[in-house]
Amino acid sequence: MNKPVATDAFAANIAAAERHLARFRAGTVPHLIAGLAEGASGRSFEDLSPVDHSVIAKVAAGTAADIDRAAKAAMAAFPAWAAVEGETRRAILHEIADRIEARAEEIALVESSDTGQPIRYMAKAAVRGAENFRFFADRAPNAHDGLSLPTTTHLNYTMRVPIGPVGVITPWNTPFMLSTWKIAPALAAGCTVVHKPAEWSPLTAALLAEIMNDVITKAGLPAGVVNCVHGLGEEAGKALTEHPLIKAVGFVGDTATGSHIMAQGAPTLKRVHFELGGKNPVVVFADADFERALDATLFMIYSLNGERCTSSSRALVEASIHERFTQALAERVKRIKVGHPLDPKTEIGPLIHARHVEKVLGFPAKAKAEGATLRCGGGRAMQGAGNYVEPTLYTDATASMRIAQDEIFGPVLTVISFKDEAEALNIANDVRYGLTAYIWTRDVGRAHRFAQNVEAGMIWVNSDNVRHLPTPFGGVKASGIGRDGGDYSFDFYMETKNIAIALDNHKISKIGV
Ligand code: NAD
Repeated sequence: MNKPVATDAFAANIAAAERHLARFRAGTVPHLIAGLAEGASGRSFEDLSPVDHSVIAKVAAGTAADIDRAAKAAMAAFPAWAAVEGETRRAILHEIADRIEARAEEIALVESSDTGQPIRYMAKAAVRGAENFRFFADRAPNAHDGLSLPTTTHLNYTMRVPIGPVGVITPWNTPFMLSTWKIAPALAAGCTVVHKPAEWSPLTAALLAEIMNDVITKAGLPAGVVNCVHGLGEEAGKALTEHPLIKAVGFVGDTATGSHIMAQGAPTLKRVHFELGGKNPVVVFADADFERALDATLFMIYSLNGERCTSSSRALVEASIHERFTQALAERVKRIKVGHPLDPKTEIGPLIHARHVEKVLGFPAKAKAEGATLRCGGGRAMQGAGNYVEPTLYTDATASMRIAQDEIFGPVLTVISFKDEAEALNIANDVRYGLTAYIWTRDVGRAHRFAQNVEAGMIWVNSDNVRHLPTPFGGVKASGIGRDGGDYSFDFYMETKNIAIALDNHKISKIGV
């Protein structure tokens, strides 16, 4: 019999999402510690739907004791995983990617339901996650490679060894992709992992842990290579950063949390890698390709609900095109479709949580008091249901306003006018963050000058954010510490050793003769 053809993709998505969520609704979502589903009988917290605040699932609330068991499991599994040949590790990580791809639809629907991110973007979440595994899988065989640094008396050579069990702590905005981005290089390097996902969107981390653990144990390796402990940041997250067996913490999240983690990890001398907040400028000069700059500016702030660290949340526009550009922005912003995250037509879904909505909707009053113009939005959308907010556009802003300084992390764009390159650079750099910058100009010299002087870790010229996985990813100032991507990830997850072999031809000083 032929399968019925879904005439309504939205209804089909809702039905399929319900099927995939049923397993989470059936009981408390457990941790995965040394391959065992644990913690379902202890305390739990509620994971709420961004659509209507209904309880999607109850999730085990990890304690310091759970983290301790997971860290010990990761330590116990470390020698076996570190000893696995690079080619075998490569094959295992590719198999994880295969399994992610095979469950792409499930991952997309669960991610979209849990985060409120529109399905049109989440459909690619699994594909991006699988790509991360494939990219680092292919580098696993060479992860330990080093340099040869000979002198006339010694052969120095370097090699890298995995640092040990590591902690990975991830945020709620695009949890599946970000978890794979941190965990795949750690595994490729030979580290074992304890993952603490964000409490506002923990479900796809549970799917990822299950997939990874299945593949790893099927290969005859210990179950503790990957562990996932759910829970609140201040409890489970904190315990992970303080645990003496955890050698390093890869963290993606808020700048203030990064400071806490640095302090919490200090007594055990944790190595830390931080990917933090941003208030990224998109700088549009009058000679830019107007339409491409417009499309990219809109896409980089209003896609992914604006809950994106690399969003272009400040548009700096040259005075001579300012009115035309803001007018064009406003016309497009008014047409953006806010709706249910599982509706394929939706461009902006509900924000993650009621507390986050409160934060985002706190800005219109501040903007008004400071004298900015609210050109579009500024309130709730979808008749006040769930966590829906209107795409919002502020104009006539100045660099010192809160809407120009604070990371709002929602679909909110602040436009500031500038008169020349020097002023644009001052405004671009006049924030505490420095993650990305987007420059739009046809003047090659100016593009290079600006890119070299703007305080950001990643700069795109005449482009939206197009990632190439070997390139370094990370921020400066309050946007982060360290770089991910390509070999940069291995530098974090591995120790570099230097070995010096004498050629027996150098003089050794004698004492006591
Ligand atoms: P958050 O810092 O509140 O939480 C992130 C994670 O840290 C969660 O798992 C949380 O439980 C945990 N946590 C909280 N307190 C902790 C503590 N004391 N010790 C250990 N862990 C703790 O961030 P969020 O609100 O989930 O995410 C939004 C932030 O993430 C934004 O600032 C955004 O810019 C940033 N982000 C950055 C990047 C990047 O690559 N730079 C990517 C995505 C998100």
